[in-house]
Amino acid sequence: MELTTSPSPNGSSSYITRSDAQLTMSKRLVQQLEKAKEEHARKVTNIEQEIECPRCHDVMTLHSEFDRLGYFCEECDFSLYLYH
Ligand SMILES: [Zn+2]
Repeated sequence: MELTTSPSPNGSSSYITRSDAQLTMSKRLVQQLEKAKEEHARKVTNIEQEIECPRCHDVMTLHSEFDRLGYFCEECDFSLYLYH
């Protein structure tokens, strides 16, 4: 992995102001965060989408709420969170 502090020239402009450079940096940061989110989502899909409800033995479906991920049973309103 290569780290560079100077913004890469795109050829359309001969000079880059300080604010433009900062904007480029933050854009790059957002792209990195988006990539990290995608990778996280890919890992999440490896887990079971449906499990059996321990209370009523109906099917619990996977759902996410804010940062929490868990299973929810519509039959008896039982919820099980994997992360909190
Ligand atoms: Zn249930």
